[in-house]
Amino acid sequence: MSRPEQFTLSCVIPAYNEAENLESFIEALHASLKNTIPNFLFIIVNDGSSDHTDQTIKNIMNKYPIHYLNFSRNFGKEAALSAGIDQAQSDVTLLIDSDFQHPVELIAQMLDLWKSGYDMIYGVIADRRHETWIKRYGTNSFYRLINANRHNHFQIPANAGDFRLMDKAVVETLKRLPERRRFMKGLYAWVGYKTIAIPFVPAERAAGTSSFNLRTLLSLASTGITSFSSIPLRLSGFLGSIISICSVIYAAYIASDTLIFGNPVPGWSTLAAGLALFSGVQLLMLGIIGEYISQIYEEVKQRPLYVIAEQQISPQLSKIEGKFHVAP
Ligand code: UDP
Ligand code: MG
Repeated sequence: MSRPEQFTLSCVIPAYNEAENLESFIEALHASLKNTIPNFLFIIVNDGSSDHTDQTIKNIMNKYPIHYLNFSRNFGKEAALSAGIDQAQSDVTLLIDSDFQHPVELIAQMLDLWKSGYDMIYGVIADRRHETWIKRYGTNSFYRLINANRHNHFQIPANAGDFRLMDKAVVETLKRLPERRRFMKGLYAWVGYKTIAIPFVPAERAAGTSSFNLRTLLSLASTGITSFSSIPLRLSGFLGSIISICSVIYAAYIASDTLIFGNPVPGWSTLAAGLALFSGVQLLMLGIIGEYISQIYEEVKQRPLYVIAEQQISPQLSKIEGKFHVAP
């Protein structure tokens, strides 16, 4: 595998309420790239921030090579990453958070691996010990469930984040995936290609707080599972069959009991308990089916993934034949 000597790099940077971090982060990223990469640019996506992230980006437009996308509202990180990926046209694309949690020092190592022939190099969180046991247990169960389907032919690696470097071929394939409810970690795994993981320990968030809480994580997990696994649906079928078989056996028992010993009428408690249990099970299964239907509903509406209200390009970038280059 030969990689071009003179390659271009796009850094996709999603930003939601990152006014305090963004300028220093771009400065640090620029400093780490400027001596080693011939051609690079930052694709910054402002995901409907409610602080002054927008102004912060506009203030540094002249200083750095930036392609700025401003969303019309908050669409979520998956949409922000997708927008950045859609714009990326360079030989290599890097996805990196703007809160200093993804170490810029690793980029050089990622690029070396790309040069040696890997198409996708992703960071894996090496140490989750600082997280609460609920989050760790939840994450483990999630990956076990999502990867339980052996017919999927691919596995979604556990603890892999969005911090990754991708060859143009991977990026072009990602652009062709049209689904609306996006679980990016699953899509990266779905596309395949020659991939390698490198462990890293995420730094503390420089300023501000994480946008992901238990509720948003659960919602993301539900999107992930309904997009990449049909096991919950099969489970409802399986459970239904078991319960039906048990019911037939129980019915046979009642019938023979009545025929042999007459009908002594007791058993209302069995009825009441059975009714309660099975209504619960039915509602649960309907809920699972509902999750999948809502996924179908989202898809058939065919709404765009995000709306870009405004775009700006640094004067340092000139558009040549549809490809961005840093002006000499
Ligand atoms: N982010 C975004 N849109 C959102 C939430 C987050 O673009 O709705 C960005 C955020 O600015 C950051 C990255 O996604 O660059 C990761 O977000 P965060 O730090 O809140 O998540 P965590 O690191 O805790 O997973
Ligand atoms: Mg973060």
